[in-house]
Amino acid sequence: MSKGSHAKADYASSREEQLFCRLINTLYEKSNFYRKKFNELDLHPSDIKGLEDLHKLPFTEKEDLRNNYPLSMQIAPDEEIVRIHSSSGTTGKAVLIPYTQRDVNNWAEMMARCMEMVGVTKKDRVQITPGYGLWTAGIGFQAGVERIGAMAIPTGPGNTERQLQMMVDLKTTVLIGTSSYGLYLAEEAEKKGLLDKIKLRIGIFGSERWGEKMRSRIEQLFGIDSFDIYGLTEIYGPGIAIDCPHHTGLHYWNDHFIFEIIDPETGKQLEPGKKGELVITTLTKEGMPLLRFRTRDITRIIPARCSCGSSYPMIDRITGRTDDMIKIKGVQVFPADFENVLKSIPEISSEYRIVIDRKNGKDSVLLQVERNEHSQATAEAVAKKCEEEIKNRIGITVEVKVLRYKELPRSEKKTKRIIDNRKN
Ligand code: ZN
Repeated sequence: MSKGSHAKADYASSREEQLFCRLINTLYEKSNFYRKKFNELDLHPSDIKGLEDLHKLPFTEKEDLRNNYPLSMQIAPDEEIVRIHSSSGTTGKAVLIPYTQRDVNNWAEMMARCMEMVGVTKKDRVQITPGYGLWTAGIGFQAGVERIGAMAIPTGPGNTERQLQMMVDLKTTVLIGTSSYGLYLAEEAEKKGLLDKIKLRIGIFGSERWGEKMRSRIEQLFGIDSFDIYGLTEIYGPGIAIDCPHHTGLHYWNDHFIFEIIDPETGKQLEPGKKGELVITTLTKEGMPLLRFRTRDITRIIPARCSCGSSYPMIDRITGRTDDMIKIKGVQVFPADFENVLKSIPEISSEYRIVIDRKNGKDSVLLQVERNEHSQATAEAVAKKCEEEIKNRIGITVEVKVLRYKELPRSEKKTKRIIDNRKN
């Protein structure tokens, strides 16, 4: 692929190109962090003629944001900052994000677009269960809901009893939250016999990877259509991409961002359609603009227009994190890839374990699966089916061992499914 030659046509119009060039100049002028990075690469803004030169620019890593705690990457003057949010520090120090009034407005505008995209109108009553506070989410949804003129019900998280009561008494029509909380609420509502008193029609769920099985269970119980929403605190928060009613991908706002997909190992841009790490450049952010921010989220840019008619481009659902990626026999794979294959095989349970070894300089993979409780198929037949499906759909050869039902360990917490002995 010629480097970035497709970028102009696929990624942006001339307005975005102008914003991009302006961003490069602004960062060079106002950001000590970026000027230093440019200088290290012997780059000057005049070397960047347009989006085709995007690949020459340095990446920004989450680690950079941590190292510049609290606000060394802010470029707007203090008197223009109206709000601070923070991204959670599950893996180390927290990161602070400063917003100008215009940043706050743009975010609300994007969130309103998300709501409109999935069919929320001013007649809707929207129950917002994500938290409010330093961690974004709640307040971002609220701003979008108010902007379109719907009624916000800012319950925040927890207190399931009250959530369900609000849902019944206020006739909530839209539920926003994490998918696991959505499922929990749906199952509690069923248990309490409240389902036919609930008037929900739309669910907007985000911030964690969730499978088709979970999605259809929530949809069935509540009788709703559900939509994936994407975002990250470093880039405003949730609301920078959303599923549309056609459910073929998540539309993103290319008038505010440049999305690129790179190979997480080499850092090279991948062409549209190829799966890799999502990298985001902000075009309109003022408080703390980011250049080529590595999200560590794995997805692909869908190289086709959506049949819904929207001209906003699409990414696929997030299938994993670069941290989870493993390379087997030269192929990049994710636990989700195995899950996707295994869930299509009815003879086995949802549990599995993958053991990777290196013998005589070659990777060998042992996949342990459990035969389902009621399956009549022989272990040989199940193993053969798994081997074939994995070969066809992931492209690697594995050896499959079929265990009895419940023979694999169960854990309340995240189960360790991949044991990679090559590193020992
Ligand atoms: Zn669409």
